[in-house]
Amino acid sequence: MKPTQRPPWYRHKNAPIAVHEAGHVIAHCCLTREFAAVGCATIDPTVIGDEDASGFTRHQITGVELDDGQRVAMAAVSMAGPVAEMVFFGDSDGMSADLADAQTDMRRVAPGESEIERDRFIASLVWDLETLIRARKREVAAVARALIERGTVYNSELDELLAGASDADLPPMTPKPAPWRRTGKHKRKRKR
Ligand SMILES: [Zn+2]
Repeated sequence: MKPTQRPPWYRHKNAPIAVHEAGHVIAHCCLTREFAAVGCATIDPTVIGDEDASGFTRHQITGVELDDGQRVAMAAVSMAGPVAEMVFFGDSDGMSADLADAQTDMRRVAPGESEIERDRFIASLVWDLETLIRARKREVAAVARALIERGTVYNSELDELLAGASDADLPPMTPKPAPWRRTGKHKRKRKR
């Protein structure tokens, strides 16, 4: 792929963290809008230009207590950051904290299940999220570009950003299937 085909935001060293936070933002917009709207997403301005830039996405929960379905949606939002990185870059650095958050939500939803069963459920969420992120890749790219340009994106700016999402912001995507699916396609050893 020629470098000229990559939009400027995608060449920025903080592009992976911007895509990661944009994945959280778009998942909020698609899955939790009624009960947990995005407050803001940010790439920490104090570490821009650093090797290990960090970012975060904040949300505002409407109501007192989440029900089980809402908690599952929140677990999906947690995993959407790493999944967006996988879809845009083929790899994810920032998985562990988000996975821990998703596991915490799933422990609340299914306290009687084994850890393995809960992780299996989270893996199934990841598959669905890949489909969602690919379907919304222009919106993810639009938010990521804004994060690179502005550092922070607020809820009030999202509608305009998403409405303006276009192919011009899209980098070359990793081919489907994503790496985590390929493991299932390896040939099994034949029994002797
Ligand atoms: Zn994250």
